[in-house]
Amino acid sequence: MSQVSESQDVDAFLSFYRTYYADEVARLAQNYPKEQRSLYVEYDDLYTYDPDLAERYLNRPGEMQEVAEEALRTYDLPVDISLGQAHVRLRHLPRENTLDIRGIRVSDDHIGSMVAVMGIVRKATDVRPKIVEAAFECQRCGTMTYIPQNDSGFQEPHECQGCERQGPFRVNNNESKFIDSQQLRVQESPEGLRGGETPQSIDVNLEDDICGKVTPGDHVTVVGRLEMEQVTSGQEKTTVFDPYMEGVSVVIEDEEFEDMDITDEDKQEILELSTHENIYDEMVASVAPSIYGYEQEKLSMILQLFSGVTKHLPDGSRIRGDLHMLLIGDPGTGKSQMLSYIRNIAPRSVYTSGKGSSSAGLTAAAVRDDFGDGQQWTLEAGALVLADKGIAAVDELDKMRPEDRSAMHEALEQQQISVSKAGINATLKSRCSLLGAANPKYGRFDQYEPIGEQIDLEPALISRFDLIFTVTDSPDPEHDAKLADHILTTNYAGELNTQRTEMATSNFTQEQVDEVTEEVAPVIDAELLRKYIAYAKRNCYPTMTDEARAAIREFYVDLRAKGADEDAPVPVTARKLEALVRLSEASARVRLSDTVEEEDATRIIEIVRSCLQDIGVDPETGQFDADVVETGTSKSQRDRIKSVKELIETIAQEYDDEPGAPVDTILERAEEAGMDADKAEKQIEKFRTKGEIYEPKPGYVRTT
Ligand code: ADP
Ligand code: MG
Repeated sequence: MSQVSESQDVDAFLSFYRTYYADEVARLAQNYPKEQRSLYVEYDDLYTYDPDLAERYLNRPGEMQEVAEEALRTYDLPVDISLGQAHVRLRHLPRENTLDIRGIRVSDDHIGSMVAVMGIVRKATDVRPKIVEAAFECQRCGTMTYIPQNDSGFQEPHECQGCERQGPFRVNNNESKFIDSQQLRVQESPEGLRGGETPQSIDVNLEDDICGKVTPGDHVTVVGRLEMEQVTSGQEKTTVFDPYMEGVSVVIEDEEFEDMDITDEDKQEILELSTHENIYDEMVASVAPSIYGYEQEKLSMILQLFSGVTKHLPDGSRIRGDLHMLLIGDPGTGKSQMLSYIRNIAPRSVYTSGKGSSSAGLTAAAVRDDFGDGQQWTLEAGALVLADKGIAAVDELDKMRPEDRSAMHEALEQQQISVSKAGINATLKSRCSLLGAANPKYGRFDQYEPIGEQIDLEPALISRFDLIFTVTDSPDPEHDAKLADHILTTNYAGELNTQRTEMATSNFTQEQVDEVTEEVAPVIDAELLRKYIAYAKRNCYPTMTDEARAAIREFYVDLRAKGADEDAPVPVTARKLEALVRLSEASARVRLSDTVEEEDATRIIEIVRSCLQDIGVDPETGQFDADVVETGTSKSQRDRIKSVKELIETIAQEYDDEPGAPVDTILERAEEAGMDADKAEKQIEKFRTKGEIYEPKPGYVRTT
């Protein structure tokens, strides 16, 4: 660019600031440099003022950034101050300059231009000072040699500017210039992804006042210059380059992305669907149609997708509307298949395994890895943060890492995750619904043992789930025949379709293919269902009718009453009551109804009742027992634990000339007292592993 046109551009920016940003520049001057160091410029303003100038800014961002900031420095300010290091930060670029991260191409001239990307912050390094001008003090003569620094590595002087010798030098920190710096990794937002795509990401370098403003999990729009960096393999340079961004501005998007465009036509279709009498059945038939059965589980997944209403109370507290649901069951019962289907229909979802593929696992972590310069601590968001305001489908939840276990309670109830490690203190949002699957600890279910003992999850965590389904795989000729038909038809449809598309000589007609496909296709196609859900969540905030409230109240009180007689176990806790409310709100949303009716209450009471029956029942007495769910130990178990311990103590006293209570005697007495000898023996074993008793001599035990 010639000198002339450059100074013309400086003039153009100057008069642009005077016309549009006089107040902002004055405010900047007042607050500079302590509280404010940047002038934010809306792209639209610049474009309205001078379209050519605006477009040139996007196409030649490097030069134009200088020009825009030079113009700011020459601005005649009312106060006597210099805006020496102030930045101009462009934001809110037009849609056509907002790129999909996966769509960045050299061939489209993206590199070198100013663009915007939208996504979710996956990782953020801590903020560190970066040297921009190093002062080298000569150890021989004391002269300072100043060397500007850039990102291509630390530059040292060839010789001292005073004595012209080659040092040695020492970097003088006081005389050098530093700037805050931070690196982000921005990943495509889950809701922009079509089922099953792996999200891609781009790294963004930030400097000065925009550092430290975002946390992992934030949805952001970043404006910046797209650059490339050569990929190295060990010490070797390769021929491949990675795009990255020099960030100019970062805007946190508070609202959900409006990515899901719902047209008027869609809206008509959604409203029409919502009047269908059998809408619930249609919805159920649209979840994982290749999986046979599981109507209740599928209906619950639908309710989870719609979710209850998040309530903000007048005192500022908040009750979550998100539903958490857990499937525990025998292997090979289609749990993983159902979970992964959620990706097709949840507007925002993350599917992962409890073992986790990233270092952040399910929750969040402060890690030190190859991101940043490899020395820095990086805060990384895990699945539950990335799924904020969506659904996190976590398979093999029981295999999650120990670090995640403790963070999980907070994540599920408070819907946030706190990280405090290595000087990083952050609270990340995880307002998501969890759809978990787990296998029984011993491979298969034992229906005679309480659930708490059969899965590798703490009772406190289990109690956070609104619904827990147990899936057992026991042979049943009638059911098995239907299941077989279903799987065979699904596969047959797949075969036909594949043969038609792959083999020119196929004898099947398209009509035949369509006919079979019809049988296994979802009733409401996934795309429409996604939009339906998004529409309902955006527009529908139902409240309870008196009838619905009465029905839920009655159900709850009734259940509690079963535990009212003297020594019976307490059946359900208030947590379940909140679950009932959430579920019934979700049920109303399915119809796009603004009120929760009695039919909603009835629908969900049926689900909750059968879930409770499956899991909350004390296997020894057949009674509901919330303690089984909430503490993992049933009342009859607790009684047994107590009595075995008492037996040990009593017998040890009787046999005070022996080293302890003889195990044989304990078992005999236990049986006399009506206890199962097997169970008593197991209990003794448990006490021993827990260190509550010890064995002074083989065959004898004492309490500790
Ligand atoms: P899990 O995660 O419970 O161990 P998977 O989801 O991996 O089980 O299922 C194993 C296989 O069995 C899958 O291919 C699935 O399609 C099939 N399958 C299991 N149950 C059903 C069912 N009810 N309907 C259709 N297919 C099923
Ligand atoms: Mg599985």
